[in-house]
Amino acid sequence: MTEKYDAIVIGGGHNSLVAACYLAKENKKVLLLERNPTLGGATASVYAFDGVAAKLSRYSYLVALLPDQIRSDLELNFETISRTVSSYTPARDSGILVNRVFDDISRNSISNFTKNETDSVSWEKFYDRIAVFAKKVAPTMLEPLPTTSQIRSLVGEDLWQEFVETPLCKTLDKYFVDDVIKGIVLTDGLIGTFASACDKAANICFLYHLIGNGTGEWKVPKGGMGKLVEELTAKAGNLGVEIRTETAVTSVIDKGNEVEVSTESEKFVARVVLAGCSPRTLSKMSSIPAPKLLDGSQLKINMVLSSLPELKSGIDPRIAFAGTFHINESLSQLETAYEQSKAGKIPDQIPAEMYCHTLTDRSILSSELQSSEIQTLTVFVLHTPASLFENNHDQVKAEITEKVLSGLNNYLKEPIEGFLLRDSSGKPCIEVKTPQELEAEIDLPRGNIFHGDLEFPWKGDDETIKWGSETISPRIFIAGAGARRGGGVSGIAGHNAARAALERLAKSS
Ligand SMILES: Cc1cc2nc3c(=O)[nH]c(=O)nc-3n(C[C@H](O)[C@H](O)[C@H](O)COP(=O)(O)OP(=O)(O)OC[C@H]3O[C@@H](n4cnc5c(N)ncnc54)[C@H](O)[C@@H]3O)c2cc1C
Repeated sequence: MTEKYDAIVIGGGHNSLVAACYLAKENKKVLLLERNPTLGGATASVYAFDGVAAKLSRYSYLVALLPDQIRSDLELNFETISRTVSSYTPARDSGILVNRVFDDISRNSISNFTKNETDSVSWEKFYDRIAVFAKKVAPTMLEPLPTTSQIRSLVGEDLWQEFVETPLCKTLDKYFVDDVIKGIVLTDGLIGTFASACDKAANICFLYHLIGNGTGEWKVPKGGMGKLVEELTAKAGNLGVEIRTETAVTSVIDKGNEVEVSTESEKFVARVVLAGCSPRTLSKMSSIPAPKLLDGSQLKINMVLSSLPELKSGIDPRIAFAGTFHINESLSQLETAYEQSKAGKIPDQIPAEMYCHTLTDRSILSSELQSSEIQTLTVFVLHTPASLFENNHDQVKAEITEKVLSGLNNYLKEPIEGFLLRDSSGKPCIEVKTPQELEAEIDLPRGNIFHGDLEFPWKGDDETIKWGSETISPRIFIAGAGARRGGGVSGIAGHNAARAALERLAKSS
């Protein structure tokens, strides 16, 4: 006899684990199946280099979108730490330092760099306005999807026009004068989204990056991103979720009153299925269609350094690398890079941003390394879409990596290569992940870090969906980043799919 579950969750990313926990909390019998040997998907932490006791957040690295409510509902012992520095951007032989709390240092830094008074004043005004938007929209994320009209009246016509209807490129032009300042602001609209500043996709991505918990503050996960996975896995275990790793689902069939889930060697049956894998993966193993999606367009570089390099601008590297360190990210550099890579060319100047986890949290290092000068550096490279790597993958990867590092070296007194720690076999501690490698390792379709293209976190006035997890089958739900309001480390998609599934289970019991 095939054992019957209330719910089967496909995938072991953080959203799947969140969904499984919420279902099990309601005494549902839950089976979670992950194809990889370890759980976590894009939230995994790993010892990436032989003999180096530094546990790196291999893929995702900062947290803003995870609602406090999920942490408290699931009693997760997962802390996130504020960074003192928001960003440092070296450019034009000096640089711009913006602290998390916008203070006189930030104000003066912007004014000295831009040689105008407008941009620092506009900076505060702009972020105050988006903060009002964020505070109103954030509380809706764990509720049934609001409609466009509801959100429009909630935020008011002015904010709606400014952040939803007007292309981001125009809003940036309205507020700011300096090309570099515009670019710093714009980057939140491009992380994980291959778009121009004038595309609607940039507006959507921008809002996502700024609404988390009503503040949009990006914080450092204490102990690394994998700590979230550890906490969720322990919780799921305590709640009785059955977890199987190295178990890839190959087919999902809605049989009318139950769903049959198969792997290479086994069949399972459940009343509902929650797919924490991408919609594209689900579509390959079921009759559920998946929307088209943009190429993932980022390269992720992880490094361990023997110490931090000095900067030509003279700023203390412990300050410069503590926040987000932008390279080649002025508005015009970002737009040129986008156009070049869209045309199939490796950008002349590759935009990238990086940060040093260990300046805020040294607990990812062994106690021996904690007392050394060793630091980690993680780089998120923009506008390097999967299509660029289609031919000569390894050669393109090497060329882009070299270009990114030399872009950084432009601002350093000595090249970064000389600061790379060596692993136990003498190899430098640097790893690079292309979109194709992200797909092979953790099944991100075309390397798209959000499983699909983000949509605004509300629904059309005439849409009938309730949670944003629904599919054409009443028994199959999207529980991963590809759900409406999914994307990023948030657990929101998992929570909302669990709510939708619980409603379905209540109806059919
Ligand atoms: C390089 C990188 C940097 C990022 N940085 C950040 C960041 O700093 N902050 C942030 O908020 N977000 C970031 N993101 C995005 C964020 O990590 C993801 O959107 C999010 O973690 C997705 O979580 P998930 O649980 O929905 O899916 P995933 O983490 O993708 O998990 C899906 C799981 O499903 C499994 N699976 C797939 N197919 C099957 C199958 N057939 N059977 C069984 N299992 C299957 C996969 O192996 C995987 O473990 C980043 C992503 C990447 C790749």
